[in-house]
Amino acid sequence: MMNTYKIAVIPGDGIGKEVVPAAIEVLDSIAKLDGNFKFEWTYFPWGCDYYLEHGEMMPGDGLETLKQYDQIFLGAVGMPELVPDHISLWGLLIKIRRGMKQSINVRPAKLLAGLQSPLKNPQNFDITVVRENSEGEYSDSGGRIHTGEDEIAIQNAIFTRKRTERAMRYAFELAKSSRKHVTSATKSNGLTYSMPFWDEVFNVVKKDYPEIDTSVQHIDALAAFFVMKPQAFDIIVASNLFGDILTDLGGAIMGSIGIAPAANLNIEREYPSMFEPVHGSAPDIAGLGIANPIGQIWTGKMMLDFLGHYHAGTRILTAIEKTLSSGVKTGDLGGTATLEEVKNTVINYL
Ligand code: ATP
Ligand code: MG
Repeated sequence: MMNTYKIAVIPGDGIGKEVVPAAIEVLDSIAKLDGNFKFEWTYFPWGCDYYLEHGEMMPGDGLETLKQYDQIFLGAVGMPELVPDHISLWGLLIKIRRGMKQSINVRPAKLLAGLQSPLKNPQNFDITVVRENSEGEYSDSGGRIHTGEDEIAIQNAIFTRKRTERAMRYAFELAKSSRKHVTSATKSNGLTYSMPFWDEVFNVVKKDYPEIDTSVQHIDALAAFFVMKPQAFDIIVASNLFGDILTDLGGAIMGSIGIAPAANLNIEREYPSMFEPVHGSAPDIAGLGIANPIGQIWTGKMMLDFLGHYHAGTRILTAIEKTLSSGVKTGDLGGTATLEEVKNTVINYL
């Protein structure tokens, strides 16, 4: 049976407008080759241009509109010279992540064939970071009182059992289907309420997965280890702040932020999930046709995986690795290829 997926496309700003159409071409090509599914793309011109014209990043009923689609495919948002970051971020990205209850953020960090990691002795590493995406240290709770030298700022971290457990279960389910080891990022020697709670929930959840090896590491040591010996990790489950930091580190050790993919998942599938690369709108190179499309293409592979088309997803990643190994690379990876050349080479290798 032929599956047709209705995808809401938000190219957004800067290089998002270039890498999204490139990735869509790759996804349409693999759909044709596979023959079991196809995509129906609907474009939404939301983002900073839309804001400059309408005074909002997306229409008031935008979230309701998005709920009618299977998934959301997003490029990048931000035009820091004309629109303050807090408006572009909270008016679109965070609004969708929270509105669609995308409470899990997944970001792989893997050394691709044909790429050079800036690490001294990079071994083959293949890590997936599962980050709690909706609460934790990034809560809106807190305040400021007094002024001058008596001034106090308070930022509360909020950990609910439900969402903590959900992130951990997702990490264990991933480990069950593909790999063996789950590492929990903690800091229960310094944070006296939130992280002991985090550890406690981890201990409860792991009992349901006796076949999976686990370890618990404090985030400071873990971060050092992540750079010194990334091949020691499989799946890492982390809070919102810890996961945020680890995944940027992940992009760095892979060789360029231009290749790092990400998914914001609503794992209950009650609302669409959103697939967006780690990189931003890169205004410094926007419009030049030299942006690296691999982050967006790999993000498309994550969408295919989430839709259950693992074989098609693997074909995309293999084509990406063949492209890089053949030396067709954009400037961020030390090459001279254009976006168009990289995209066409990936399609040829599918
Ligand atoms: P944002 O605030 O939107 O996250 P940013 O300014 O923090 O954006 P990026 O937009 O990701 O970060 O840009 C950081 C640097 O990486 C820039 O120099 C940019 O040109 C480069 N870069 C980002 N993405 C790519 C890409 N796909 N290809 C090539 N270079 C990229
Ligand atoms: Mg920025």
